[in-house]
Amino acid sequence: MRVLLVEDDTMIGESLREALRMQGMAADWVRDGRAADAALASERFDAVLLDLGLPQRSGLDVLAALRARGDATPVIVLTARDALPDKVGALDQGADDYLVKPFELDELLARLRAVVRRRAGRAEGTLEAGDLRLDPATREVSRGGRAVLLSAREFALLQALMERPGAILSRAQLEDRLYGWGEELESNAISVYVHQLRRKLGDDVLHTLRGVGYYVGPAKGS
Ligand code: CA
Repeated sequence: MRVLLVEDDTMIGESLREALRMQGMAADWVRDGRAADAALASERFDAVLLDLGLPQRSGLDVLAALRARGDATPVIVLTARDALPDKVGALDQGADDYLVKPFELDELLARLRAVVRRRAGRAEGTLEAGDLRLDPATREVSRGGRAVLLSAREFALLQALMERPGAILSRAQLEDRLYGWGEELESNAISVYVHQLRRKLGDDVLHTLRGVGYYVGPAKGS
C-alpha cells in the first residue's frame, strides 16, 4: 500500500512515516499544501493522510482540488482541531474519515485499512485467492489453513497482488507499492521477494508472466 502523508509538523511527520514503513507500506511525506497538490497530480496513492493546517495551501483546499479533478483516492483528515465545523467541513469536502490529534497509531492503521477496503468495494477485511488467505488487520497469512510467516516486504508484495487476484502487476508497479521516495531499492528486489514467497507458499500460487509482471490466482497457462 502506498500512502501520501501531508503534515507540516516535523515530529509527527517523521514518526508517522517511520511507523507506516515499519508496516511494510510505501509512505511518502510532504509538508505543505502545494507539494501535496503536486504529488497527488503526478502519482497514484492508495490513501492520503491529510493535515488541515498547512503552509502554502490548506488541507481543505488540497482536498477540494483533488475531488474537483474527479480523483477518488481515499483521504483521512488528521487534525488537531476537534471543533465540529472542521470535521463536518472536511467530510462534506470529500474526506472519507478523520482523526483528531493526538491519536493512537493502531486506530490510524485500522482506519487506513477500512477506507482502502471500502474504496475497493469489499466488506470483508480478509483477502483470498484459492486456499491462500491474507488478513491485513492481523497481518496473518495462511495457505490451506497452515500459517505462513512473512517479512513486512513479502507481506506487502503479496497483499498488493491479492487485492485483485488475476490482475497482473509489473515490476515497476510493485516497486511503487513497496517503496517510498528516497528508499534504497536493489534492482532485483522484487524478484528476490517473489522467490522467497514461492519458497514459503509453494510455487503454484504466485505466477510470472514473462516480460509483463506477476499475479496470484489460477495460472493463465503460458
Ligand atoms: Ca499542521
